[in-house]
Amino acid sequence: MIDIREEVKLASFTTFDIGGNARYFVEIGNLDELEEAIAFAKEKEIHYFVLAGGSNVLFSDSGFDGLVIKIANDSMVMHGGEIICGAGTDLMGFLTFVSDNELTGGENLAGIPGSVGGAVRGNAGAFGTEMKDIVKEVHVYNAEIGKTTVFTNEQCEFTYRNSFFKKNPQYIIISVTFHFELGNKGEIDKAMYNTIAKRNSKQIQNIKSAGSWFVNPTVDDRVQKMFELDTGQKSHGGRVPAGWLLQSCNVFQKRIGDIQAGVQHANYFINMGKGTAEQALQLSTLAKTRVRDEFGVQLKEEVVLAGF
Ligand SMILES: Cc1cc2nc3c(=O)[nH]c(=O)nc-3n(C[C@H](O)[C@H](O)[C@H](O)COP(=O)(O)OP(=O)(O)OC[C@H]3O[C@@H](n4cnc5c(N)ncnc54)[C@H](O)[C@@H]3O)c2cc1C
Repeated sequence: MIDIREEVKLASFTTFDIGGNARYFVEIGNLDELEEAIAFAKEKEIHYFVLAGGSNVLFSDSGFDGLVIKIANDSMVMHGGEIICGAGTDLMGFLTFVSDNELTGGENLAGIPGSVGGAVRGNAGAFGTEMKDIVKEVHVYNAEIGKTTVFTNEQCEFTYRNSFFKKNPQYIIISVTFHFELGNKGEIDKAMYNTIAKRNSKQIQNIKSAGSWFVNPTVDDRVQKMFELDTGQKSHGGRVPAGWLLQSCNVFQKRIGDIQAGVQHANYFINMGKGTAEQALQLSTLAKTRVRDEFGVQLKEEVVLAGF
């Protein structure tokens, strides 16, 4: 039996620490509970929103006028060289489990906040590794028709920070099967430690933020060349860092209310204290306008906006 609570403050469930109340809020630990939660939303004819680690989401100041379903199934089972993991499992906890089992392949992902399911949905990645590199199968629940399905890696249609599930939010990830190579625990731990050290040197991690605000956009040759000339770096896949575009338009450290475009890096919007969703959206609009005027590039939020 699920425990549906009313008027639950959402801010504390997000790393940005912003957001009003959910009209209804429930934590689910397994498929039966998820089905029950969806049935509740259908019966009440209200919208639902799937929330996991809350590290890539901005809730509106007025909250979410529906049911927020927090994915909290966090089992991990080892089966041969494969691990089957509940979608609500903390990604870092999962990677530690992988290392404890002397399996290699996920070291570059160490330190990405949030859950396994959230990371698969957004094909989260860092330092050249993405979730797509370690996922074997994804077990999902289609909330529209009430059926479960298994997706192979190929069927997940992973691309840069994108997947089939991101484009089709009626598919809720329940669990994920991963495959790895056997490795050496000492080397795996060292690589994970180095990854986290690199992350800390690039961007302070323990701040109130939702990670990268904008997706790195695909741009035309002219802007790619400008980026390469300015930084001496190559652009990859026709993309340039959103942070570079923002920096070039003097958005770095621009502040509206308590929301600031970065401390070390302009593409991390930071809640410096009592920031609001309204202020974050104003800063986002200002940044998009400047980049569009200067470069003719349309930035798109990576962070998910909910309740607006
Ligand atoms: C300090 C910081 C650093 C970060 N660094 C990185 C980085 O290096 N690389 C990177 O890729 N990202 C990074 N991020 C962004 C974020 O951590 C990832 O996007 C993460 O994978 C989101 O997972 P989550 O569980 O927190 O998802 P949430 O924020 O809870 O949700 C995000 C979206 O995923 C959906 N979702 C969540 N769980 C499920 C599920 N089970 N089924 C279907 N949909 C689901 C939600 O509905 C929502 O639309 C960073 C964020 C922060 C705050």
